[in-house]
Amino acid sequence: MPGRFMEQDLAEVRERANLVEVISAHTQLRKAGPRTFKGLCPFHQEKTPSFTVDPAKQVYYCFGCGAGGDVFDFLRAAEGLSFAEAAERLATRLGITLRTEAGAAPAAGSGRRRLLDAARAAAAYFIELLNASPEAAVARRYVEARGFSKDDATAWGLGYAPSGRDTLYRHLLGRKFTPDQIVEAGLALVTESGEHRDRFRGRLVFPIADLSGDVVGFGARALGDEPPKYLNSPETALYHKSKLLYGLDRAKKEMVRSGQAVVTEGYTDVMGLHKVGVGSAVATCGTALGEDHFTIIKRFCDRVILAFDADAAGSFASERGFGIDAKVGVEVLVALLPPGKDPADLALAPEPDGGAAAVEEVIKGAVPLRWFMIEAVLRRHRLDTPESKGKALRDLAPVLSSEPSRVVRGEYAFRIARLLGVDERTVQQEISELGRATSASTARRRESLPGHVRLEREALALLLDSPRRLDQVEDWVTEDHFTLPEHRLLLRGLLASSRAGSTASILEQLPDEDTRRLGAELALTLGTNESVEEVFMRLEEFRLQRQIQSLRATLGRLEPGADPAYSDSLFQELMRLESQRRRFDDR
Ligand SMILES: [Zn+2]
Repeated sequence: MPGRFMEQDLAEVRERANLVEVISAHTQLRKAGPRTFKGLCPFHQEKTPSFTVDPAKQVYYCFGCGAGGDVFDFLRAAEGLSFAEAAERLATRLGITLRTEAGAAPAAGSGRRRLLDAARAAAAYFIELLNASPEAAVARRYVEARGFSKDDATAWGLGYAPSGRDTLYRHLLGRKFTPDQIVEAGLALVTESGEHRDRFRGRLVFPIADLSGDVVGFGARALGDEPPKYLNSPETALYHKSKLLYGLDRAKKEMVRSGQAVVTEGYTDVMGLHKVGVGSAVATCGTALGEDHFTIIKRFCDRVILAFDADAAGSFASERGFGIDAKVGVEVLVALLPPGKDPADLALAPEPDGGAAAVEEVIKGAVPLRWFMIEAVLRRHRLDTPESKGKALRDLAPVLSSEPSRVVRGEYAFRIARLLGVDERTVQQEISELGRATSASTARRRESLPGHVRLEREALALLLDSPRRLDQVEDWVTEDHFTLPEHRLLLRGLLASSRAGSTASILEQLPDEDTRRLGAELALTLGTNESVEEVFMRLEEFRLQRQIQSLRATLGRLEPGADPAYSDSLFQELMRLESQRRRFDDR
């Protein structure tokens, strides 16, 4: 997060980083105006470029999907890096040393580098033990029993975490890692009495790599009954479980080639699927499949096949799935596994029940997530009376109305009508009624924004364009001048920021991603030649009008003669506001 590194160093990175060059690695940019570049958006599918880059402001924004921010935001979104990683990568490229705020002397190599070294050293030690340690016999037997060879284990870097209390910890100390580094890499923890303990003990260990193949954490399977069955690295500077997919570094090429990713729930599932030729298989790492995972997958392909067991697929669909597929723009399908079998079982069982052909058949037979849900809903109902059919249809409507494509909705309506034995138009009507309600609430057309909202955007754009303009208005402008919550947030962020820097450095100081995105959009949409004073005067006028309207409404609701003193005071206030507002008319 911002603040870990010295702002001075970050500012230098931001200043010197060539945003156009960084983005050009992901999409082709062409000069589009005196100071802007345009290209096809790397974050959504489009045919005409709406992705805009302003190198002077060091800001980008997509007018199609709303992605936007500065160079750090871009690397985070496009390459799945954390802020720290993005900053370090750019700094390294530019030859800038990032110092940390704490005032600590810069570590030998950067902090992240050292943690990566620790993780790699641990991985190597685990492998050595799995291969040779007598204690690891139980782990070797487990690997074999699951159907994996010694070569498989080697290919995936499987290892064994020793059962001693601090065997790995002492091994890493011997390699000149500090206790803090070992803890920060998620490899040891500190007990209440202050002793260091290995996090993973007596377990089979799967190394988890980031996109570039560097080991950043581990998943560790119990070899006996001790809970939990799987133990994963904690969140560290290296390991962000919501943004990691096991096997992605190996699978990304095949994802691009085949246009799809197979997502499983287990590390052995990934190994098993790769072994039978499904090279696009990945797994979540100790967390549920979420939006961040889809965003990462979307960079390589736009079709995701869930090879989950039926319960897990069902709960994914009902809790998160539909929102995500539409939002991220991926097609999600569910592969129907034989009951009681996970993908590894299926891949590694002898033919014809298992093996490459059986896996291929299951993947080819994957059904769209929505259809999977529709069938699940239908199974819950008896469908033998008109009432039960009506109930089923009502349960189905939300599943269907979240589908953005009318063609797809129509096709499903047709199939449902056949299954229920009812008229197709009845199904269509039931769905479209709900569908209208949802699409109306999500439609937000910029052209039709009310005047004061456009004015608010203009005002914020002016401030973002040149943060020093804040000096001219900060004495009197308040959040009351803005009606939309996101505009208020942005103003608050602007007022709190230091104005010295560029647009991009102001954006970086905004508290959250949504506000930064809005900031980037506004910074690139400056459509006014008016002065700051002019725009803010009109904001003040709008604010007065709103106050007057609300006072009038309050006065109108008062019982006549109920509380003369109170209504009198309201009336006085109204007169005062009216006279203030009239001054605008005279201008
Ligand atoms: Zn876009």
